[in-house]
Amino acid sequence: MKDIRLRARAKINLTLDVTGKREDGYHLIQSIMQTVSLYDGIYMKRIQKDEIILKSNLSWLPTDNRNLAYRAAELMKAKYGITEGVFIEIDKRIPVAAGLAGGSADCAAVLVGMNRLFDLGLSMKELESLAFLLGSDIPYCVQRGTVVSEGVGEILTPVKCQCPMCYVVLAKLPVSVSTATVYRGLDWQSVQDHPDTKGMIQAMAEADITKMGRLLGNVLETVTIPMHPQIAQLKEELVHLGAEGALMSGSGPTVFGLFKEEENAKKAASAIRKKFGLKEVVATKIYHSDSGKRGEQRNG
Ligand code: ATP
Repeated sequence: MKDIRLRARAKINLTLDVTGKREDGYHLIQSIMQTVSLYDGIYMKRIQKDEIILKSNLSWLPTDNRNLAYRAAELMKAKYGITEGVFIEIDKRIPVAAGLAGGSADCAAVLVGMNRLFDLGLSMKELESLAFLLGSDIPYCVQRGTVVSEGVGEILTPVKCQCPMCYVVLAKLPVSVSTATVYRGLDWQSVQDHPDTKGMIQAMAEADITKMGRLLGNVLETVTIPMHPQIAQLKEELVHLGAEGALMSGSGPTVFGLFKEEENAKKAASAIRKKFGLKEVVATKIYHSDSGKRGEQRNG
């Protein structure tokens, strides 16, 4: 196989709790992560010259080893002694620095892509271990689907989401939020309102989107919303427009709303775009994972 196309999909956090802090300063989390259909297109091909060439449709996105996709290729080349080169092209559609793990998703896709392009024969578990060397959300982005992520992102437990369809509106404010700054600003011991992770797992197993909407919770909102109060307004407006619930994803600033009907999600997306003058608003849906098969499928 000389070239490959992959879909690097975004995630949302249906719940995000912080349960402790390690001595090295990393926070311990418990989060229900959910893949959505929105994706970056990744094209990869083998090239003879021993180099990594990375291109993207965003002129300002770094194309050297500041880009996580580049770092994934670099790691695989070094670890497995690959002396051929690789060309990677990213069609960026996931908003950047948004709390949607776009960079992590690209990185995971390149790990999967390198495995297939160079016939390395690595299992998903091996890919996840490599992913963890590159960032805490990346093992999840290799696995995808509905997963409870714990520790610093290395303990992944798949859970069932029985909703045949659940529509998601993503709305990103035109501001960048640094994940590190948000975690630094969190006094986790004084958080009063913790999300009900077990309740959310139950609601997903029952395909009860109304209950899921009610149980959405993210402790990082306590840090990001005071910095960007429009996040709270976006949440309110999404609920006003018919969402079963709305929440900030990850460390923000993207807000998402859950909808039962596609038509309502589309209408809400266009109303939000107009009312808040936002460019980055997307109507998408929950993506049910093909994780076990990802290594073999052509359009992962
Ligand atoms: P997370 O939810 O995992 O915290 P995020 O959605 O908040 O991630 P990203 O879109 O991954 O954030 O981007 C965060 C930073 O990573 C950006 O400042 C960007 O320059 C850098 N970055 C490196 N590689 C990529 C990539 N392939 N796509 C987007 N951003 C990247």
